[in-house]
Amino acid sequence: PHTGRVAWVTGSTSGIGWAIAQQLASDGAAIALHGRSAADEKTDTLLAELQALGVPARYYALELSQGEAIAPLAARIAAELGSVDILVNNAGMQHVESVLQFPPAQWNAMLAVNLSAPFHSIQACAPAMLAKGWGRIINVASVSGLVGVARKPAYVATKHGLIGLTKSVALELATTPVTCNAICPGWVLTPMVQAQIDALARREVLDADTASSRLLGTKQPSQAFVTVEQVASLASYLASDNAAQVRGAHWNMDGGFAAA
Ligand code: NAD
Repeated sequence: PHTGRVAWVTGSTSGIGWAIAQQLASDGAAIALHGRSAADEKTDTLLAELQALGVPARYYALELSQGEAIAPLAARIAAELGSVDILVNNAGMQHVESVLQFPPAQWNAMLAVNLSAPFHSIQACAPAMLAKGWGRIINVASVSGLVGVARKPAYVATKHGLIGLTKSVALELATTPVTCNAICPGWVLTPMVQAQIDALARREVLDADTASSRLLGTKQPSQAFVTVEQVASLASYLASDNAAQVRGAHWNMDGGFAAA
């Protein structure tokens, strides 16, 4: 369904972003794979997997806290793959600590990556979408954009902010063929969540299984992780023509997390 489109998925060398890149590639889109560090054997392998699906794919490295470098990167992607039709703002950072001890530098970094980077990439990519007469902007927020969570002040604040940005952009573009929506996953077992399971296991001296049940038990009524493939299929739907009138939505996929 996405044949001939160009998709840029930020933070797509692991976790949810990689699953979205694979899904959109299987749907026929060319992929701008993105990570924070220089190309290496791992990124070569990922690119080969995407290219094996029969689509063009290239890797782009950029530390997203460098906001002023985002528009030049979008221009490079446009020159090498074609202008971005499907922008997936997926890259994100987590840091779990009380607001009383939260390092200000960490707060600033999370604001830059989780919230300002999507602003910059939208500003860089939307004009070509409008000129072409088709576009999809998908922001990977979180249930932490809908409800508060203790000890995650920057994460909760930036994800709430990202949903606000989503609504504002969606309204501004409401009469155009460009949509903007947010996805709000609950717990998904990715490197980001594995780090939280490991920290819980260390803190409370638990085995890995007990630590992951404890994590789910407190928040996710289904008691099951959302899978990266499930999140990717939602992104693929939001990128489809049938989703043309889904606008400004914050769509949760969270095992019931936000219903409680
Ligand atoms: P992940 O750690 O595998 O992915 C995060 C990606 O963002 C990585 O590829 C990382 O390289 C990239 N990134 C982080 N900081 C960056 C920076 N400064 N510059 C460039 N790239 C940077 O974890 P994930 O769970 O797949 O997270 C993907 C998105 O999903 C994030 O926005 C996260 O907040 C969101 N999310 C995850 C969950 C979950 O349970 N895993 C739940 C809700 C939302």
